[in-house]
Amino acid sequence: MLIPPPSGKKVLWQEMLRHELLDAQANNGVVIVPVGSVEQHGPHCPQDVDISIPYHLAIRAADALDDVPVLVAPPVLYGFTHYNMGEIGTITLGLETFIAVLCDVTRSIWANGFRRIILLNGHGGNQAPTWSASVKLAEEDVWALAITYWAMAEDELRAWSDADEGSIGHGGEWETSLQLYLRPQLVDEARMVKDEWRRHFSPEVQRYAIFPERRREMAHGVMGDPFVASAEKGERLFTVLLDRLVTLCREYHAAKPPAYREFGSHCP
Ligand SMILES: [Zn+2]
Repeated sequence: MLIPPPSGKKVLWQEMLRHELLDAQANNGVVIVPVGSVEQHGPHCPQDVDISIPYHLAIRAADALDDVPVLVAPPVLYGFTHYNMGEIGTITLGLETFIAVLCDVTRSIWANGFRRIILLNGHGGNQAPTWSASVKLAEEDVWALAITYWAMAEDELRAWSDADEGSIGHGGEWETSLQLYLRPQLVDEARMVKDEWRRHFSPEVQRYAIFPERRREMAHGVMGDPFVASAEKGERLFTVLLDRLVTLCREYHAAKPPAYREFGSHCP
């Protein structure tokens, strides 16, 4: 379940009235597009883990910032998750379709006059396609920042991991912790399992030799150890992520986006 901001502040693009959107646009508003996936997350987590985290980060950031207008666009729920097919619950877009959806959504927001757009991704399989979409858009002089949320706290993830060595995993230590913090009613801890990773190579080689898909590398679709997850760890990580996103929104609001640069102004 994706909930509105705790304060009741209006931040969702689709709920805005025309004058509110015009106001946000005129004040260099930042638009966050949560990007996720509907897919299996092991026996104990719901299917929408990867959209719930960027969505809640986005609305909490918009809620927290009073001096900077931040709008949260309708989330892109479907992502590119072909490698999770075969586990019940997964719904994927094709690669080209997913990139096309991201480009169309971003172009539309841009055409509405917003020049500060963040594609906030929550799914590993979306990382390369979301970046590709942002590159494709930049060729058209339409600009969006493509970010995957856990990249905002890599040092903390590494330092705070009890089992998963800094990896966000999949239904493991950190995703389960974030769910226990955000939506404990949707987690069934009695069903938790820890899967052995059926690696193709030794752990050393696996660091640089990774196939583009992870299909059937885990017996129950879990990457990492959910048994060391806790709501407290989820809150700790969420708090850092939120702080980084708030800082980014502030700086983005104050910065001149690339397309604002006059042609040739970067040349000496
Ligand atoms: Zn996930």
